[in-house]
Amino acid sequence: MSEQKATAVDKVRTCSSPSDLRITDMRIAVVGGGGWRWPIIKLETNQGLLGLGEVRDGASARYALMLKSRLLNENPCDIDRLFQKIKQFGGHGRLGGGVCGIEMALCDLAGKAYGVPAYMFAGGKYRDKVKVYSDTPSLKDPEEMGKALKGRMDRGFEFLKMDIGLWIAAEFENGVINKTVANESATLMHPFTGIQVTDYGISKMQEYVGAVRQIIGYEIPLASDHFGHMGVENAIRIGKALDQFTLAWYEDMIPWQFVDQWQALKAGVDTPVCTGEDIYLKEGFEPLVEARAISVAHPDLATSGGIIETKRIADYCRDAGIGIALHQAGSPVVAMANAHSAMAMENFIALEMHSVDNPWWNDLVDIVGQDGDIIKNGYVEVTDAPGLGLELNEEAIKEHLAKDSERRAAVYPKGAFEDTSDWDQLDAHDRTWS
Ligand SMILES: [Mg+2]
Repeated sequence: MSEQKATAVDKVRTCSSPSDLRITDMRIAVVGGGGWRWPIIKLETNQGLLGLGEVRDGASARYALMLKSRLLNENPCDIDRLFQKIKQFGGHGRLGGGVCGIEMALCDLAGKAYGVPAYMFAGGKYRDKVKVYSDTPSLKDPEEMGKALKGRMDRGFEFLKMDIGLWIAAEFENGVINKTVANESATLMHPFTGIQVTDYGISKMQEYVGAVRQIIGYEIPLASDHFGHMGVENAIRIGKALDQFTLAWYEDMIPWQFVDQWQALKAGVDTPVCTGEDIYLKEGFEPLVEARAISVAHPDLATSGGIIETKRIADYCRDAGIGIALHQAGSPVVAMANAHSAMAMENFIALEMHSVDNPWWNDLVDIVGQDGDIIKNGYVEVTDAPGLGLELNEEAIKEHLAKDSERRAAVYPKGAFEDTSDWDQLDAHDRTWS
């Protein structure tokens, strides 16, 4: 090849031959510990490119494996067509986990094939780094809680979240009515528990939040979550009492399904209200957004439809004057998929992180072209490395495979990226209309 010809070829990215790229295999390793389970997906191809994705935290790897027969021999660069083909196999909550995990892996593969970062498929970037907030586990003593949150600030976090549960009021006699139900009501929706909080109980919740604010001050946003399972009237009473602390939002005070109750809550308090971490697809957000019943939408990209669908949700919310905070509780693979989608959102606020105290979380991957941890000073930096910009650290994955447990029963599959040929054959007729 002449020198002149080589220069011309160099101007075209030749990382792969995208038109001929085909999916040849799907492998999964379920990583976990401390109650967490993260099924990490590897899509293999005929050109040696690997696509990384992740089934939603706590969901079954089978939700992705049942899609394998529908993806073999397909070109992963046809992201939208393949998403349309498989999205009927997802749903709200963990049911969306397989479809979304595959979508991430398709974006990773297409990015690697074309030599562009995954956020380009969501329309390019609005920012160079993505603000994250860390969930901080509850502590009984408000001063200890304040110090724990202050510790996050000392690590560079510029956005915080804490739980303000009914448990604070229930610590005191006459704080919560029907509180024995609280222990038995994990699967009973809020309006049906009969739980109420007294004015005295609410005053104890005020004291708790006030003590925390005393320690962390008011320079940094503080969001709130996990209020407990009570009806909307009690949620409004608590919300009104806590408005004085100017929290960033009240999250999931009631189930997302009850749009008219969300309207009442939003009208009843002076703090932004937020929900969405279990909603599947843009159409799932439509009733809440059309009713202007929320201030902040909170999709979990591993349920809401992956990188591109979550960008569609963000645009739709932007046009309604609603901001986007991203829920995320997975491994670095899903965290980075979120960061890529967030890069492309004009109305992005912050991305949730749940593992900032996990000593091996960062070990699971290497970041292409970067040293150190994924979160640096409260932000994830997203470079223009192709796809998600990650490489798996297979040794660390093997070391941290999830184990069977009483709480979550059996792990499947048990090994790291073992043979999955049992899932190769399509055995269903998928058309959803006649
Ligand atoms: Mg939440």
